[in-house]
Amino acid sequence: VSGSLRDTRHEVATRLIRAGLAPRVDQLMSRTGYWRIGGPADIYVDVSDMHQLSVVLGQDVPCTVVGNGSNLLVADAGIRGITVRLIGELRATQVEEGAGATCVRVGAGILNQVLLRRLDEQGMYGLAALAGVPGSVGGAIRMNAGTSLGEIGERVVEVDVLLPGGHPRRLTAAELNFSYRHCAVPNGAIVVSALLRVDRNAAGLEAARAQTAAHLERRRATQPLDQPSCGSVFRNPPGDAAGRLIEASGLKGHRRGGAQISERHANFIVNEGGATAADVYDLVLLARNRVHAATGIVLEPEVHAVGEWPAGSWPLPPP
Ligand SMILES: Cc1cc2nc3c(=O)[nH]c(=O)nc-3n(C[C@H](O)[C@H](O)[C@H](O)COP(=O)(O)OP(=O)(O)OC[C@H]3O[C@@H](n4cnc5c(N)ncnc54)[C@H](O)[C@@H]3O)c2cc1C
Repeated sequence: VSGSLRDTRHEVATRLIRAGLAPRVDQLMSRTGYWRIGGPADIYVDVSDMHQLSVVLGQDVPCTVVGNGSNLLVADAGIRGITVRLIGELRATQVEEGAGATCVRVGAGILNQVLLRRLDEQGMYGLAALAGVPGSVGGAIRMNAGTSLGEIGERVVEVDVLLPGGHPRRLTAAELNFSYRHCAVPNGAIVVSALLRVDRNAAGLEAARAQTAAHLERRRATQPLDQPSCGSVFRNPPGDAAGRLIEASGLKGHRRGGAQISERHANFIVNEGGATAADVYDLVLLARNRVHAATGIVLEPEVHAVGEWPAGSWPLPPP
């Protein structure tokens, strides 16, 4: 099936061009993702409004949405079908005031750091949980991204998604059932926008700025931010830290091909140059198996594997 899908990529790209889009065929994902890893996306396309997105979803080929690629492990064989990224109008922000609360409706393609800056310029705050998280709002919602300062789910009022086939649906925060790095976005749904609760008062703004600055400073001191990575590879198990467990298993600094378990933070795997997805996968399995052998704890990956992996790779086989 995947071979025949690949054969149709020029045909599908031609249809998208006729509809006014600018798809790229065989776009190397290692050029865009944070890890600098991954083979070709058959068709990679930016969409700037809902109409363009519905054209993409109407093509009857599998569709993978990417945000900023900061939590993606893309297979060496690449991604079949269409890979889509939200830009333009799908990155817009609009303030909505009502019933004593200030909210902002945000296009899911906007980068967290752009949103935080835009809010700050208008005297608004409340999303400090996203400070230093290098993704888009869509990716943040999908992962319920967060830090020691909180999680995005705490600020979500409602989310608009397109279901596979292009059907729109509005989901409330309660329906999304946010928990640690989890959000119940339906399978295959694309988050297109979100209504987020923010704060607006002068004293609070100054305190939030100071808190964010201290938080960013702490991150710079403890994380290998100068090397390609996707942040934390594993979720923290209840009551413990994945990084501590991997370090205790003696794997800090361990290498496979061009990939290394960071010397700085053992829950980061860094690309030292030329790492493949297979190199990272081997380290993921090794870390998970070593920690399991030593402690009985089964670490669960936080990064999302996308694309065409060898059969049986994901979910990870039991330790
Ligand atoms: C240096 C570094 C530090 C990090 N620190 C943190 C941290 O402190 N806390 C934290 O939570 N994360 C952290 N991360 C991981 C990452 O930034 C977050 O998980 C982020 O939310 C991913 O967003 P993204 O837009 O890059 O998504 P991507 O990596 O592009 O995609 C991640 C997943 O979300 C899906 N997705 C993306 N956009 C949409 C959409 N619009 N609709 C539906 N699904 C979508 C993708 O299909 C994929 O399954 C870090 C990463 C790096 C590189």
